[in-house]
This record gives sequence, C-alpha cells and structure tokens, in this order.
Amino acid sequence: MTFKRIPWNIAICDWNGTLLNDLELVYGSLKNIFKYFEKVPPSLETYQNEITADFLSFYRKHGIPADAEPELLNSIRKKYFKENDGNITLTDGAVELLETFLRFDLKIGIVSGEAKGYLRDERLKQFGIEKCFDFVHDGVSDKMGKFKELVKILEVNPKTIFYIDDSFDGIAAAKNAGITTFGFTHEGSYNSEEKIKAAKPDYIIKSLLEIIPIISKIE
Ligand SMILES: [Mg+2]
Repeated sequence: MTFKRIPWNIAICDWNGTLLNDLELVYGSLKNIFKYFEKVPPSLETYQNEITADFLSFYRKHGIPADAEPELLNSIRKKYFKENDGNITLTDGAVELLETFLRFDLKIGIVSGEAKGYLRDERLKQFGIEKCFDFVHDGVSDKMGKFKELVKILEVNPKTIFYIDDSFDGIAAAKNAGITTFGFTHEGSYNSEEKIKAAKPDYIIKSLLEIIPIISKIE
C-alpha cells in the first residue's frame, strides 16, 4: 500500500551553510582578505548578523578600501579555499535527508549563489550526490527572481514547494514567491538565529533531520 504524502511536491535546498558545512572555511577566507589589507576582521558574530548577498558592502563597511577590486578579493578567497578545502564536509544529516526526499518521490533542487558551474560540475560530484537533484541553479544572485521563475515553470501550488536556507535573504526570497520555508539555524549558519527568525520562516529547524517528521505527516 502506498500513502500519498501531501502536500509536498518539491524540495529545494540552499547549498552554502545548509547542505554544505562551510561557514568556517568562508569566515577563514574573510580573515585572510582582511589580513591582506592589514585590517582587523569583524568577529564571526558580526559576520553572521550582517552578511547579505551583497558581501562587498559588508567588507567595505568593516574597512576594506572602497577601491579594492572585487576580482582581487575573489582571487584571495579562491586561493584560500583551494588551500583549505580538505576538511570541508556536508552538514550532518544532509545525505539522509536527500535519501528521504528520494524515497518520498519529491522532486529535488538546489538554488544557490555559489559560483556558476562550480557547484554543479565540481562540488556535487566531490560528495557523490549529483544524481540526487532534478535541477541545480547555481550562480544565482537574485534568488527572489529565480524563485518566481521556478514557481511559474514547475506549475504546482508554491505552498507545496519547500525551501531550506540558513539566511535571512534566502528565506525572504522564497517566501516572496509563496514557497514554504524552513529556516535552518545551526552552528554553521551564515546568519544568526535571531536574523533567521526575523525572516519569519514557516518552520525553524536546528538540525536538517528535523524536517523529516514535519514532511512525513500524512494529510
Ligand atoms: Mg546559505
């Protein structure tokens, strides 16, 4: 006998800080950039409270010269990533969560600001999870626009799509398109718990596996 699990149709995940536990790496690269400019880096707490997709404004506010080229900052960041990538892992429960989505016959996608092509062609393969996903949108700088586009393309009630994200911006963007949201607040979240809660997600979770009982309810 099969149960129809209602109402979920599609699971969409953020990548950085959600499926990938990379906050430490990202914050390390920030410290490296500030070191390069001989500036004192903002604390991790400040970073988690203030960072948005517009990271340049954050860097400038905390002392990086306004005329520093984004390309230079990116090259310092990439070099640091390359040298320190060895210890990076998926977030606890990520694989089990994806397996559960597959078992539930959900369509699974990613919407991420991670560098275009890098996530799809390298990162997912690195962790052997590339086959889990029906769609991967990387290099997304405007999540709000992307979610609106997806809702149109996917042709399902947006409430039956859910999105998991560890940041205010991501949650706000999905909510704006009518998508159900899970605010993920854990040690590796890019934003503080307070900031994530301020986006008013439909659910707050502290571990990825907390999603399973919520979406398992049969209605
Ligand atoms: Mg994130």
